[in-house]
Amino acid sequence: MAIKNKYVKSVLADLKTRYKDQPEFLQAVEEVLESLEPVIKARPELEKAGILERITEPERTIMFRVSWVDDSGKVQVNRGYRVQFNSAIGPYKGGIRLHPSVNLSILKFLGFEQIFKNSLTTLPIGGGKGGSDFDPKGKSDNEIMRFCQSFMTELTKHVGPDTDVPAGDIGTGSREIGYMFGQYKRLRNEFTGVLTGKAIPSGGSLARTEATGYGLCYFTNEMLKEAGKSFKGKKVVISGSGNVATYACQKATQLGAKVIAVSDSNGYIYDEKGIDYKIMKEIKEVKRDRIKTYVDYSKTAKYTEGCSGIWTIPCDIALPCATQNEIDEKSAKILVKNGVMAVAEGANMPSTPGAIAAFQKAGVLFGPAKAANAGGVATSALEMCQNSARLSWSFDEVDEKLHGIMVNIYKQASEAAKKYGMEGNLVAGANIAGFEKVANAMLWQGVSY
Ligand code: NDP
Repeated sequence: MAIKNKYVKSVLADLKTRYKDQPEFLQAVEEVLESLEPVIKARPELEKAGILERITEPERTIMFRVSWVDDSGKVQVNRGYRVQFNSAIGPYKGGIRLHPSVNLSILKFLGFEQIFKNSLTTLPIGGGKGGSDFDPKGKSDNEIMRFCQSFMTELTKHVGPDTDVPAGDIGTGSREIGYMFGQYKRLRNEFTGVLTGKAIPSGGSLARTEATGYGLCYFTNEMLKEAGKSFKGKKVVISGSGNVATYACQKATQLGAKVIAVSDSNGYIYDEKGIDYKIMKEIKEVKRDRIKTYVDYSKTAKYTEGCSGIWTIPCDIALPCATQNEIDEKSAKILVKNGVMAVAEGANMPSTPGAIAAFQKAGVLFGPAKAANAGGVATSALEMCQNSARLSWSFDEVDEKLHGIMVNIYKQASEAAKKYGMEGNLVAGANIAGFEKVANAMLWQGVSY
């Protein structure tokens, strides 16, 4: 879809000139700006207040050196980042990604998406993201600890429970959050909810670990329900085998579906009898091993080398839960040809623009990441509430709140799409609903950033 509005076009052109070396960021911005055209047309005050120029520029970007000592005594150096994108509706909130592919483009795309996702949760949280090109794979526990401590030593100056509250993401699980939390506490002498995804005895929330995967299935269920369908008896393919994938597998199975495939960056497992999420947990969380070892636990499981092949498996529902741009147009067309009826994004931006267009053209129900995977950050915000109140809610209490939030996110996206004449287009609906709340807050606060 080509952008026609002069203001939207000029903002995008300007960004493309300034940030030509940031393809992921530009991809995320273009998708959002495209769907905001009808809002910009209907509300001229947004242009006057420079809302698009402001919302596409982070309020603050912090970049720093992270030096740490490996087990052989050698000093290693990584790059650390925190992108504090938008605080119009609350403290910056977003995960920390530890992966060798991390760079400013990826973190800006994630931080930008986070603004709208956080707004959709209806909770008071702004958008941010951070990380490092450190690769936790193959590192000892002590190396991970030394890295996390060094990373937090600098980050401490920029975060806080009312300023910026980071969380986990790819490569950052409970272990890494624990090391970072310990260092923050030591440096500040404060026990506060500065990070979410904490272990339960240190103020973590029950159901946070499960939240993104569960939330994804709650959202998908709403999408299916409106189309008169359900998870019952459906074949589901899930990419990845990390945090999001594991609990999406559990919830989809509980809702009556059969998950037939999961993957990691090396290859995928197909099991016609259905994937057991407990085995995934054992392999990934306990043994920290590769998904190919799943065949040691199930006689019917087959392993195939290469991760993109997972999209050639015929299924009713596809839940990409691994990484950005993992479904390209070609894979999307194969999924459509094989009869997929719903795709919902557990990972951030896992479908390329060509893939989204192919799904929408074929009438496949499509749940975009910023709505479908918002359950994780929503539950992080619930963790912040519990920390502030010095309370801890039961698993069922949190799960019930999460369920309510996901139903509400679906409703907001669906209604916003209808309001602007794009019924059924949840990509546009989620962008518009998330944007309007933040834009209104920015207008109300004057030109503060
Ligand atoms: P994890 O690190 O727990 O797991 C990531 C999984 O994806 C691993 O199994 C990894 O395999 C696999 N993977 C990475 N690249 C590929 C690839 N190209 N093809 C197939 N598999 C691949 O991360 P999370 O589960 O936490 O995050 C997954 C996605 O969900 C990310 O996009 C993240 O931003 C998003 N997300 C996560 C939230 C959360 O609460 N955790 C919240 C909202 C979004 P390997 O071990 O080989 O690298």
